Amino acid sequence: TTILGLETSCDETAAAVVQRDAQGGAKILSNIVRSQFDEHKAFGGVVPEIAARSHVQYMDHIVAQALDAAELGFDDLDGIAATAGPGLIGGVLVGLTSAKAMAYAHDLPLLAINHLEGHALTPRLTDGLEFPYLLLLVSGGHSQFVLVKGVGDYERWGSTIDDALGEAFDKVAKMLGLGMPGGPQVEQWAQKGDPKRFVFPKPLLKEKRLDFSFSGLKTAVRLAAEKEAPLSDQDVADICASFQATILKILDNRCRLALARFQAEFSEHQPRFVVAGGVAANKAIGQLLKDLAVEYDAEMVVPPIKLCTDNGAMIAWAGIERFNLGERDGPDFQARPRWPLDDADMALATKGD
Ligand code: ATP
Ligand code: MG
Ligand code: FE
Repeated sequence: TTILGLETSCDETAAAVVQRDAQGGAKILSNIVRSQFDEHKAFGGVVPEIAARSHVQYMDHIVAQALDAAELGFDDLDGIAATAGPGLIGGVLVGLTSAKAMAYAHDLPLLAINHLEGHALTPRLTDGLEFPYLLLLVSGGHSQFVLVKGVGDYERWGSTIDDALGEAFDKVAKMLGLGMPGGPQVEQWAQKGDPKRFVFPKPLLKEKRLDFSFSGLKTAVRLAAEKEAPLSDQDVADICASFQATILKILDNRCRLALARFQAEFSEHQPRFVVAGGVAANKAIGQLLKDLAVEYDAEMVVPPIKLCTDNGAMIAWAGIERFNLGERDGPDFQARPRWPLDDADMALATKGD
């Protein structure tokens, strides 16, 4: 099965060709990502209107590049997959509409993919991980624990009640006058700082439910930055290090709860634990999760950075998984700005046949 996948839900225009062989092995034949970083830089955040226009401008070119790099033509494809939500609606419309047009023109099936499902199934693309597994999805727009039981079969165990983790990193970076995107900047500065200098709050930690809250932490960081102003480089590094250390403590606590729950519900096998979404690119967070996996004797997958942040390969792969289960979407499929993973619409139409 060979599928072209398009991703346009935020600020990267991406297209990739992924192939699955008869044995179930996956091969990424191409994975082209064009970041709109420079177009949004001056505004301190992603401007939806600019994002949508830029996707329109580059989509055809990125698709051509992806097919070129894969050394394939439309005739070699089995289908076209595109992110249909959740995300910035203008961008999602560009990708989904392009996919519909190409599918129609080349008489190929269309797969309308949930962007979060793309992130969630990535460990199967990279490592062929089996269901069920515990997923920590931490990205720019989402922070949640999800039990992944099968394609389209997701159970949300907890989510953030305010900011997403990536968003918290981005906002802290902005407060400190660091560049965009914030996550990698905060991580770099944190390496030079003292993680013990500031003590920040860890909301919800006493609660047994698996939710997150990052907005109080963000406020505490802002207050500390205001109190220490004007900030020296060392102050900035210390704030970043203390912020990241607090995040690590929160994640450590929450992941222990989630792993214990997974162990209790699936006592018959070794826990499987994966992390997905852009924040998974953070090395300190990756190391913490790896250590936890060892402690809980869990099979652990951290996909390579390129496949953690937004990309077309994860969309193509989700398309392959759905295609092989008999799923097809029609040209009437509507783009969705909001579309939770555990939505009833995620279930396979063919289920129970
Ligand atoms: P969603 O997937 O929820 O729709 P998104 O697509 O914008 O949101 P991703 O592209 O998956 O999110 O991830 C981007 C986020 O990851 C940004 O908030 C960014 O700051 C964060 N991030 C990237 N690298 C790092 C890092 N090294 N440390 C911390 N955060 C990081
Ligand atoms: Mg992004
Ligand atoms: Fe994403």
